[in-house]
Amino acid sequence: MSDVLFFHEGTLVTVLTAQPIDRTLDYKAPEGGCFAGAFVEVPLGPRKVIGVVWGAGIGGFDLSKARAILRVLDVAPMRGEMQQFLHRMADYTLTPMSAMLRLATRAPGLGDAPSMRKVYRMGSGEFDRKTDARKRVLAVLGEYGGAAFTLGELAELAGVTSSVVKGLVKLGAVVEENSPRDLPFAHLQADFSGVELTKEQSMAATALRDAVSGEGYGTTLLKGVTGSGKTEVYLEAVAECLRKGQQALVLLPEIALTAEFLTRVEARFGAKPGEWHSGVTMTERRRLWKMCGEGGVQLVVGARSALFLPYRDLGLIVVDEEHDTSYKQEDGVLYNARDMSVLRASLCSAQVVLASATPSLETWANAEAGKYKRVELTSRFGAAVLPDMQAIDMRVQKTLKGRWVSPALQYAVQQRLETKEQSLLFINRRGYAPTTICRACGHQVGCDHCDARMVEHRFQKRLMCHQCGETKPIPEACPKCEVEGKMAPVGPGVERLAEEVTTLFPDAKIAILSSDLFGSARALKQRIDEIAAGGCDIIIGTQMVAKGHNFPHLTLVGVIDADLGLQGSDLRAAERTFQLMRQVAGRAGRVEKKGLALMQTYQPEHPVIRAILSGDEEEFWAAEAREREAAGVPPYGRMAGVILSCPDVATVFDLANDMARRDGPLRDIDAQLFGPVAAPIARVRGRHRVRMLIKADKAVPLQKAITTWMAQFKVPNSVRLAIDIDPQSFL
Ligand code: ADP
Ligand code: ZN
Repeated sequence: MSDVLFFHEGTLVTVLTAQPIDRTLDYKAPEGGCFAGAFVEVPLGPRKVIGVVWGAGIGGFDLSKARAILRVLDVAPMRGEMQQFLHRMADYTLTPMSAMLRLATRAPGLGDAPSMRKVYRMGSGEFDRKTDARKRVLAVLGEYGGAAFTLGELAELAGVTSSVVKGLVKLGAVVEENSPRDLPFAHLQADFSGVELTKEQSMAATALRDAVSGEGYGTTLLKGVTGSGKTEVYLEAVAECLRKGQQALVLLPEIALTAEFLTRVEARFGAKPGEWHSGVTMTERRRLWKMCGEGGVQLVVGARSALFLPYRDLGLIVVDEEHDTSYKQEDGVLYNARDMSVLRASLCSAQVVLASATPSLETWANAEAGKYKRVELTSRFGAAVLPDMQAIDMRVQKTLKGRWVSPALQYAVQQRLETKEQSLLFINRRGYAPTTICRACGHQVGCDHCDARMVEHRFQKRLMCHQCGETKPIPEACPKCEVEGKMAPVGPGVERLAEEVTTLFPDAKIAILSSDLFGSARALKQRIDEIAAGGCDIIIGTQMVAKGHNFPHLTLVGVIDADLGLQGSDLRAAERTFQLMRQVAGRAGRVEKKGLALMQTYQPEHPVIRAILSGDEEEFWAAEAREREAAGVPPYGRMAGVILSCPDVATVFDLANDMARRDGPLRDIDAQLFGPVAAPIARVRGRHRVRMLIKADKAVPLQKAITTWMAQFKVPNSVRLAIDIDPQSFL
């Protein structure tokens, strides 16, 4: 680290903290001095907080008043490229640096000394008195596999006192051991094993390997239908990165996919990688965070926030299912992990692989424009071929009121039952019914805090608000007219579809896959494995099933409502529907048998439905691109959303109207401001929401103009204001 600035004891340095202050604070370098980037503990008022030495002090005040840094923490200093990344991302997303540092330090106990500590694991001792508390401890240990916990962590997760755990240690059912903190991860061997790639796969793998073994930044779109072997191919790029001695990061859109992926990594490289997502214990998080900085981990698999780990030498970032909307963080710091991966890689000369069967239009356009390389897998691995896709025209099907499976679809499922093949019925709606209505007065049950209808969840016997999570019992009498026994569900959800399917096929084994029905990622993974092994005849699923799971016995996919996503004013409605339908259809016929995908629709002539059926993706993207270009919207123009919310409706509209009136800085760059209007979801958790939308040319300095514009206003404490650059959601 010869080119890193060093500050001698007593020199003034400036420190960035994660406290909500909009500037860095000056301190004197501690005894022994410190490097730029060092993680330090500093006094702030009566408290001690953690920060990073950001550079030379700014000064401009009485230096005798400067306080000294208390100590330098025993973790790798933040690298210059990480500092730069946080800065650039802050400028892009208009986020305060303190909030950026919070993202980059999301691990507990960074300041703790690296000593031995006691950890607790599953033991083998048998015993008789299995109290509920004891069972809960064992359940937690079982659920996390072989993971180790600290005493506090284990007790908290199990909801027991620490003496329960200690009791289990005495019985030998739990093992207590001394473990050095934060050990390096097991070594991955680049050439541990590997499958023999097909010719097409091997060409794709060579292209990615060459990119990784070269110098400098680059992004490649790895496009291939589901089951074409994208994962096998990008693991070759990971292998090359490991050979170079650099670290690799694989981002996955959904925790439920991690377990399957970890197993594949272990088979390919002989050991498990580091894992980073909300289901990982605090102890393991801290270990991974530190090991990233020390180079004690070669591969990290994780959710979007894994992008902010302090990698020592990052060589490759893979964003799997790059089109997935969950890469956009929709609260706190609003960012798209896919786009920020490209930014981060460009700053540290790393390679990016964006993998998808149905890339986002943004990525497709970047590849068309030559900014990204493009590598393609056109056929499915082995004998598997893409399913036939057909529409079921619901206008001519005789489907009873309150029923959603058409006779044509019912017939197709019946055939699969006879040949012992699996069917998947897809509906992208959780719960039993989206609306509960009173048949006496027409009242619809809404949430008390949000402008949203309550969704019936029959398994839980409650109504739930999908905005704020509030639940209430299903009322016997109408809350408005008080007539009893007239409350009725309207419309289908996944639970209600299951009920219908049970009536239609009483002897079939039916499984429901919906994210809200599983307590943990591991429970879900177990269920998915059972289903994949042939443990049911009919799968009924929401969006979740569209993502990357392999169901080898599946040969029929029925989409209950292909029109659902086409409603609404979202500029990406067509793109999203296209992606989702293709992904769902891609679940069928994965091994030897050709699959069939049937889509129930009331508008079979709709361009999006026709594009899905024809399978001519390039034509769909080209048409969609032409439309967006003509409208000047992303990716051919830029957008920013402004969302204001406040418990008081007048306050929030007054501010928004004032902002709209004084939009000079936006007009200076020829940007257009739309609104303010009440947001489509006008109230959430009791706060009234107002939206504005800014539209601008691609090349203008949009963020700078917004900053100048915003600087004119004083935002009252009761108002929350969020700027959403490149918005994905318009609700
Ligand atoms: P994708 O990521 O494109 O959906 P995967 O990489 O998951 O595709 O491949 C689909 C399935 O086919 C996986 O079970 C994978 O192990 C298998 N597979 C793909 N390519 C090969 C190959 N060359 N040899 C053996 N198995 C392969
Ligand atoms: Zn609500």
